[in-house]
Amino acid sequence: MIGEPASKYGPPPARGETGNSASTGDGPRHVAIVGGGPVGMALALALELHGAGAQIFEARERGAARSDQRILALSQGSRQILDWLGVWHRIAATPIAAIHVSQQGGLGRTRLKAEDEGVEALGYVATAASVAAALDDALAGKRIPFHEHVRVDRVDQKPAGTESMSLFTANGELPARLVVFAEGRVEADAEAVTHDYGQHAVICTVTTEKPHGNVAFERFTAQGPLALLPHGRALAVVYTCPDDEVAALSTLDDASFLVRLQAHFGARMEFLSASPRQVFPLRLRYRKSPVGNRAVWLGNAAQTLHPVAGQGFNLALRDVWELSRCVGDAQDPGAAALLARYAGRRRADRMGVIGFTDSLIRLFSNDNPALRHGRGLGLLALDLLPPLKSFVAKRMMYGARAW
Ligand SMILES: Cc1cc2nc3c(=O)[nH]c(=O)nc-3n(C[C@H](O)[C@H](O)[C@H](O)COP(=O)(O)OP(=O)(O)OC[C@H]3O[C@@H](n4cnc5c(N)ncnc54)[C@H](O)[C@@H]3O)c2cc1C
Repeated sequence: MIGEPASKYGPPPARGETGNSASTGDGPRHVAIVGGGPVGMALALALELHGAGAQIFEARERGAARSDQRILALSQGSRQILDWLGVWHRIAATPIAAIHVSQQGGLGRTRLKAEDEGVEALGYVATAASVAAALDDALAGKRIPFHEHVRVDRVDQKPAGTESMSLFTANGELPARLVVFAEGRVEADAEAVTHDYGQHAVICTVTTEKPHGNVAFERFTAQGPLALLPHGRALAVVYTCPDDEVAALSTLDDASFLVRLQAHFGARMEFLSASPRQVFPLRLRYRKSPVGNRAVWLGNAAQTLHPVAGQGFNLALRDVWELSRCVGDAQDPGAAALLARYAGRRRADRMGVIGFTDSLIRLFSNDNPALRHGRGLGLLALDLLPPLKSFVAKRMMYGARAW
């Protein structure tokens, strides 16, 4: 039977059930969020649902994220969390009915279908801009403080016994019991693990001769993976290429770019026109632990992933959901035991997604004939074994909460 899957990200607690005295409205705001990108905004809303007060400090002007041109694949789990946050209905999203996975120059392909999983969509596609706009409008509706043009220059621990941290901005010093870093990048310090893939992503949208039928394509090539996502009537392209090819690719005229893209993708779909291209460097960088003393790192500040499997924001939303459950009820949201509980509950999903994304790139971004053959067999096995296929589909839809 096809329908909406039962939500794995349940309704918020009714007010009064949490026992939280750090009420929102004019109450104290013990959580300081550094960064008003989509992840920081989602956390502020999630904490509000639990009755915990947060405020956002953003270096840029409010609304800057509304012009983010990236196109995001959102999992079923993300849809449920965005629904829980009360913003899903504001996001224009295209459902993904099937995902076609193949490799260039090799045998083997597989197709994951929503109907096989009994769901109306395996995931959805939306612009990062529309997600940010929906979150920002909801924040404004709830009057959650958003301090624009306020860069947090430094965060220090206060003397022992004061049970708070100090944020330093151009406006002075501010106390917070918990500081959440959602500033969009992993600091290159001793906590950071980095791997540079030597690749860039070129993104754009293309129109096609035939309707895409809500099918997403993931194609592995020796130069790197190529993803095409149904977005309205167009397909959103994430074209990975080696660093030394990016300058040429991004400056090609549209007709020559389409010829390159077509050669890369094959004849399954004919491309007609392309939008202007944008370029992003690709590397894996993550913090060994997403928590510290009265501090949590979230979203791209905790882990910046290769976009091949479209997992960065999806993983971050699951982190937001769990963090709000762990600290939202507490008198002291920065208490070490709560942060340790949060990190423990998120470890398997976090490390699973980091490992899965990294292995995909290492396994599929090369032209080794033995590996190509092995990959072909793997895709064939996936196609012939429905339980294995269902495992992969569920993992993509919900992360580690699939079961
Ligand atoms: C090409 C590409 C495709 C992608 N596709 C997908 C996909 O399909 N699905 C998916 O789930 N994910 C995808 N991602 C990942 C996704 O885009 C990120 O996970 C997400 O945008 C991270 O949001 P964020 O809020 O953590 O960071 P950001 O959006 O970078 O926001 C950080 C904010 O912090 C502010 N800031 C920084 N420093 C300070 C400071 N000191 N004080 C105050 N404010 C500060 C910045 O101004 C910024 O507004 C993709 C990424 C790329 C590059």
